[in-house]
Amino acid sequence: MSAPGKAPEALLEVSHLDRRFAMGEEEVHALRDVTFTILAGEYVALIGPSGSGKSTMMYLLGCLDTPTSGLYRLAGYDVGTLGDDDLAALRNRFIGFVFQAFNLLARTSAVDNVALPLRYQGVGVRERRQRAREALGRVGLGHREDHTPDRLSGGERQRVAIARAIVTRPKLLLCDEPTGNLDQRVGSEIAALFEDLNRDLGATLLVVTHDPQLARRARRNIKLVDGAVVHDGPPLEGF
Ligand code: ADP
Ligand code: MG
Repeated sequence: MSAPGKAPEALLEVSHLDRRFAMGEEEVHALRDVTFTILAGEYVALIGPSGSGKSTMMYLLGCLDTPTSGLYRLAGYDVGTLGDDDLAALRNRFIGFVFQAFNLLARTSAVDNVALPLRYQGVGVRERRQRAREALGRVGLGHREDHTPDRLSGGERQRVAIARAIVTRPKLLLCDEPTGNLDQRVGSEIAALFEDLNRDLGATLLVVTHDPQLARRARRNIKLVDGAVVHDGPPLEGF
C-alpha cells in the first residue's frame, strides 16, 4: 500500500516492446508491440498458449535479455541501454526468480541454498544464515532448515526455492510455471503462499502459468497470443 496522496510507483514499464529472433533466413517475431505497466505491489499472471512469447517476456523482464526495439524500464532504469554488468547488478538488486524445476543444490541444506544469493551480495555469514532462516520461516519451512532437497517433497522444494528468491528482499518476484511440477493440492498451497507474500511483504509478483487456479488468484491477467497482448485486466474464466 502506498502512503495516502502518494501516486503508486510504476515498477515495470513496457512500451511498444518487440523481440525478434533471426532463425537462418527467417525471423521469429516473438513479441509484438507489447505495452503495459505494473505498479509496485501488484500480483499479475502472464498467461497464453505455448509459443505465445511468455518465456521471452520473462527473460526480458528479468534482465536476462534485451528488446529488439521498444522500451523497458525497471524501477526507473532504462534496461535496453545497459550492458551485461549493469544488467547483472539490476537483477541482483531488484529481482528474485522462481522456476518450475526448483533449481536447488542437491547436497546443500535448505538454509544454505536459501542463503546463497546473499553471498553474491557480499552479506556476512552470520547475517546470511539469520536471513535465510527468516525466509524459510516465512514460507513455512522453519523446521526443515537442515534438510537437503532430496529429503524434501516437491512442494517443500518449491518453498525453499521461493525462500531463496525472497531472501534478498527483491522488489519483483518473477515465477515461471511455479506449480508446473506439482500436483493440484500442493499447487494450491503454493498459490496461497504467493497470496501471502504479495499481501504481507508487498512483493510485486509476475507469474507465468498454465495453471488456471493460480491465474485466477492473481489480481490481474495479461494474456499473450502470437507475441501480442490480447487481454489485460481481471482474471479470465477458463483460458
Ligand atoms: P512460450 O513461453 O509462451 O511458450 P516462448 O517465449 O518460449 O513462448 O517462444 C515464443 C516464440 O519465439 C516461439 O515461436 C519460439 O520458437 C521463439 N523463440 C523463443 N526463443 C527463441 C530463440 N532464442 N531463438 C529463436 N526463436 C525463439
Ligand atoms: Mg515458456
